[in-house]
Amino acid sequence: MRISVIGTGYVGLVSGVCFAEKGHEVVCVDNNDSIVDKINSSISPIYEKDLVGLLSSNIGKRLSASSDLFKAVDESDVSILAVGTPYNGDEIDLKYVREVSRQLGLALREKDSYHTIIVKSTVIPGTTDDLVIPLLEEYSNKEAGADFGVGMNPEFLREGEAISDFMNPDRIVLGGIDKRTHDIMTELYAGFIGVDILLTNNKTAEMIKYTSNSLLATLISFSNEIGNLSASLGGIDALDVMNGVHLDKRISPILEDNKRLFPSLISYLEPGCGFGGSCFPKDVKALIAHGINNNQKMSLLKAVISINDVQPYEIINRVKRHFKNISKLKIAVLGLAFKPGTDDMRESPSIKIINTLLEENAMINAYDPIAEDEAKKIFNNSNINYCDSVLEAIYDSDIIMLLTSWPEFKDVPKIIKDNNLNPLVIDGRRMIQKDSVTRYEGIGL
Ligand code: NAD
Repeated sequence: MRISVIGTGYVGLVSGVCFAEKGHEVVCVDNNDSIVDKINSSISPIYEKDLVGLLSSNIGKRLSASSDLFKAVDESDVSILAVGTPYNGDEIDLKYVREVSRQLGLALREKDSYHTIIVKSTVIPGTTDDLVIPLLEEYSNKEAGADFGVGMNPEFLREGEAISDFMNPDRIVLGGIDKRTHDIMTELYAGFIGVDILLTNNKTAEMIKYTSNSLLATLISFSNEIGNLSASLGGIDALDVMNGVHLDKRISPILEDNKRLFPSLISYLEPGCGFGGSCFPKDVKALIAHGINNNQKMSLLKAVISINDVQPYEIINRVKRHFKNISKLKIAVLGLAFKPGTDDMRESPSIKIINTLLEENAMINAYDPIAEDEAKKIFNNSNINYCDSVLEAIYDSDIIMLLTSWPEFKDVPKIIKDNNLNPLVIDGRRMIQKDSVTRYEGIGL
C-alpha cells in the first residue's frame, strides 16, 4: 500500500518507518524542512531505540521524506494524520489538525481516485467526525464516504519502547465511517499477524485512547497518594504495601503450574515522583476540559492531575527531613527525561525539582545518558553543571536524587561503595534496595 504520513514527530516517524519495514511504500511529510532533510539523510530527529537502524535500512527504498503534502497525497492511497495535539492551558489545541485537514482537503480536490484519511493523533471524541470530515469536505468539495474514506486509529506506543510497541502491538483499534474505510485500514495492518483488531466508529476509537491513558495516570496518582500517606504514618513502606496488593490473584493470576503472572500494569501501581511526558498530562487535562464542556464534573481525573502536580515536590520534602537549608548543598540529579529510553523532557518531574533547587541556590550536578541536550533547552543559561557519568555527578555530592529509572542507575550503590562516598540518596523511582546505601530516602517510605 502507498502511504503518506503527515507530521513526522515521534508517532509519525515511528509509524512511517515501521510501515515501510512491513513492506508498505511510505512518504513522511513534515513542514519542518530540517526534519525532512535529516530523515532523508538517515538521521533520526528523535532518540528512540532501534529507530536509526530501521530508518537507514528503509530510506531510499520504501521510505522517503518530503515537505510536499500535495504530491505525497497524490502519490499515495492512504494519508495518516499524525500532527501534535497539545493542551493550551484550557483545552486541547487542534490548530495543527485543522491546518492539515484543510491542506488534505485541497489535495483531495486535485485527486481523481478514492483516498483514505486516517487520524492517528490523539484527539478528543468527536474531532474526526465533527471537525476533520467537515473541513475535508469543504476544502475538497467532495463527500466523505462517496469520494474518500475517513478513519481513526489511535496510537498506543510508549516512548522508549516505540519501535517494539509499534511492531508488536497488543491491539489495533480501527475507527471508520464505513466498511470500505475499515477494509482499507485492515489491509494496512495485514502484516500484523495475530493481533486483536477492534473495528468501531471514530468517536469510540478516540475515546478508547483517552480512557487508556486516563486509567494508567489514575493508577499512578492512586499509588502516589497511598505512598505519601504511608510515608507520613511512619513504619510502613508503600512498596511492601503495593507488593501485598499485587498478590491479589485478580491482579496477578495464578497459572496452572502455580506460578504467578505479574502483568506489567503493576508497574503503574508503585509510588514515584509523578508522571510526565507528552501524553498523560495533556491527555488527561484535555479529557477533563472536554468533560466539563459536556456538563460532567470530572472529579476523579481532576484529583489525578492535582496529585501529580505536587508529587515532584515530595523529593524536596525528603531533603528537608535532613537539611533545613538547601542553599549551597551539592546535589547530584540522576535522570532528567520523564522516563528511561527517551530524551523527551516534556513535563518531566525533574523540571519542577530542578527549578526548586535552583531557586534555593543548590549546586546541581546533572546526569542523564541522553536527555542533556533537551534539558539545556529548558534550563537555558541556568546554573547546572552537566556531567558525563554517574560517578562524575555524584562524586563529592551531599545528596543524590534518582529521578529517572535508567538501568545504569541500579549501580549507584556499588559506585558509592567503591568510592567511599556517603551521600543521602533520595530514590524518586524506588529503583535501588533501601538497605543498599547507608543513608536512604524513598518515596512512600
Ligand atoms: P510531535 O510534536 O513530536 O510531532 C508532530 C510533527 O508534526 C512535528 O514534526 C511537526 O513539525 C509536524 N507538523 C505540524 N504541523 C504540520 C503541518 N501542517 N504539516 C506537516 N507537518 C506538520 O508529536 P508526537 O509526539 O508525534 O504526537 C503526535 C500525536 O500522537 C499527538 O496527538 C499525540 O498525543 C499522539 N501520541 C503521541 C505519543 C507519544 O508517545 N509521543 C503516543 C501516542 C499518541
